[in-house]
Amino acid sequence: MALVIYLNTERRQWWLEHLQSLLPGIDCRLWENAGDPGEILYAVVWRPPTGGLARFPNLRCIISVGAGIDHVLQDSLRPEHVPVIRTTGSDLTLRMREYVCLHVLRMHRRSMEIEARQQQQLWQPGITPTAAERRIGIMGLGKLGSDAAVSLAALGFSVAGWANSRHRISNVDTYAGVAEKKRFLRATEILVCMLPLTESTRGILNRDLFAQLPAGACIINVARGEHLIENDLTDAIAHGHIDYATLDVFIEEPLPADHPFWHNPRITVTPHIASMIDPESGGKEIARNLQRFINGETISDLTDADRGY
Ligand code: NDP
Repeated sequence: MALVIYLNTERRQWWLEHLQSLLPGIDCRLWENAGDPGEILYAVVWRPPTGGLARFPNLRCIISVGAGIDHVLQDSLRPEHVPVIRTTGSDLTLRMREYVCLHVLRMHRRSMEIEARQQQQLWQPGITPTAAERRIGIMGLGKLGSDAAVSLAALGFSVAGWANSRHRISNVDTYAGVAEKKRFLRATEILVCMLPLTESTRGILNRDLFAQLPAGACIINVARGEHLIENDLTDAIAHGHIDYATLDVFIEEPLPADHPFWHNPRITVTPHIASMIDPESGGKEIARNLQRFINGETISDLTDADRGY
């Protein structure tokens, strides 16, 4: 009974030792030392190489070292019958809560303008609306999105959330499906994308969507770079329809040195740090989920590959 690890990190050896200590009954191996492919029953991966997972004929489950599974599903040669489990956890949710609240508050209180005025030694006070007068829209009401919605509502914001299905969250107006998307967007001044990357969400942050937001709206994307049509955002900012964007995820990461986002004064770039898996607790989540899988118990992090999340 062996487990293979594919991670693009210098800490691969640390992860190997960490998982081995948490799963003493399973022989944990790094990808490059996987040995006999027939012995591998479990794979713990982040962005595995195309066709790599198909090498293991007896694979029973794939564990994504992250909340998203798009990096696994993009492998067209992946053994499709093998279940995919994602990795979440309370620390991931808390970090995402911090990031989303920080950047919503920053936009709400116009902090970027105040910081820019400091450079010019400009003392220019101004009053901003209260949180209750600011309408925040969260796209995606999953583990991370619903927590962010509740947290923003607790700060006093007027919060709406949009998902595939109907959700009921106290103090949050909820919208469901394509039919209610327009109404959701029309009332949103700060839009936060917290969707999984699937065929129906790829490119969702585009010119048409921006046009449905009120003039002067702001965008926060913490989901995936491929949700955003980059030129559409730059155009919408240049025309003044979108006021400001904070982006944590990009089509190409690291963001290339010559990318125009770096120097756009109306865009804040952060290096995919909204909420990173803590290796210590993430390893424990992985071990716990795997143990539950082996025991045939229910796993809340089990995904639906057909649905894409
Ligand atoms: P979940 O899978 O728990 O929730 C996804 C939500 O999106 C659900 O509410 C779902 O609706 C909704 N949804 C999916 N497809 C559609 C659609 N076509 N139209 C409308 N709503 C849709 O995801 P999480 O909250 O755990 O995470 C969200 C994403 O955040 C991850 O997939 C990942 O890409 C990203 N992420 C980014 C991090 C970072 O550091 N930047 C860190 C961690 C995650 P329903 O509830 O009806 O099914």
